[in-house]
Amino acid sequence: MENMKYDYLIVGAGLYGATFAHFATRQGKRCLVIDKRPHTGGNIYCSEVEGINVHQYGAHIFHTSDRKVWDFVNSIVPFNRYTNYPVAQAPDGRLYNLPFNMNTFYQMWSVKTPAEAQAKLDEQRHQAVERMQADGVSEPRNLEEQALLLIGRDIYEQLIKGYTEKQWGRPCTELPAFIIRRLPVRLTFDNNYFNDSYQGIPVGGYNRLTEGLLAGADVLLDTDFFDNREHWQSVADKIVFTGKIDEFYGYRFGQLQYRTVRFETEVLDEPNHQGNAVVNYTSADVPYTRIIEHKHFETFGAAVYDNPHTVISREYSTEWQEGMEPFYPVNDAVNQAVYKKYRELAAKEKNVIFGGRLAEYKYYDMAPIIAAVMALFNKE
Ligand code: UDP
Repeated sequence: MENMKYDYLIVGAGLYGATFAHFATRQGKRCLVIDKRPHTGGNIYCSEVEGINVHQYGAHIFHTSDRKVWDFVNSIVPFNRYTNYPVAQAPDGRLYNLPFNMNTFYQMWSVKTPAEAQAKLDEQRHQAVERMQADGVSEPRNLEEQALLLIGRDIYEQLIKGYTEKQWGRPCTELPAFIIRRLPVRLTFDNNYFNDSYQGIPVGGYNRLTEGLLAGADVLLDTDFFDNREHWQSVADKIVFTGKIDEFYGYRFGQLQYRTVRFETEVLDEPNHQGNAVVNYTSADVPYTRIIEHKHFETFGAAVYDNPHTVISREYSTEWQEGMEPFYPVNDAVNQAVYKKYRELAAKEKNVIFGGRLAEYKYYDMAPIIAAVMALFNKE
């Protein structure tokens, strides 16, 4: 393997790298994929505990409205019918359905029809508009003002404020308004967290997807590109780099910031701990943001009880530091400005393709990663 010349050296065996390897291999190209971790799959990697696929780097739910992407991933491995419908435990101690829909409004205000819910929302929004007018502003200046306009104070205080401040480690008044616009607001009894047409989890877990994508490529694990950069640059004509772009350029313009997530995973001797894959804890007094119960991603109905054990993970959100796995790019103005400088260098490279969450410093869902690679190969 060592002396063989490859068409592509792919640095990183995550979803971008694995998908790239798949399409390149299909075109008859020879790919070597290296990854510094002891496993492939990047953050979609699952480890098996008590017969349950544990999403070791946090819950991953595949969702898309792009039929080509959906058909493609299903050609690698069939997907199950999992639909994300998280519930939230609020500071008032009660459970609410998410995203914000008729179930939530009934639980919050006892309103039973869309007209009653609309009246309640209008009343709350009106108060937000009046407060902003008193301050002389017409557009929401931050996440708090946006949330009050979108959904009102009752829901902001019970379901948004505490969760958001834990997740981002910054007050809602200092966060951009767009983050909260990710969440749907509906006047129907529909608890589906996503508006997309297709949604699910690979049958048998995400490792099946990764392994299917990487079939046909050579893979070396526990192999850090930066330990022997000159050597790795010489083994292929082109490099596909999916690691941190600031590291690729030796941090010459400074370090980019990330949020990271720490997981406390526990095996419990009960078949069904919380009755749902995802329960958010929206109170500032609870240190974690959510608890994931992994079996519910793949086991439905009475089959949940076939396995007398269950595995749960509590998620703690913190600022990224050296040695941790980076998760979410902090897309504020300061970091975007630093990234722009690295991107200008990257644009000049003739033999390096930068792709994925870390190399493009972009918060990517899984489906857009696949779409980006497909677009690249359609062009070539
Ligand atoms: N959010 C919230 N309460 C919740 C869930 C989400 O206030 O119970 C807000 C929070 O600000 C979060 C944003 O909605 O940053 C987007 O949530 P999403 O679930 O899309 O985040 P992800 O799953 O990507 O971490």
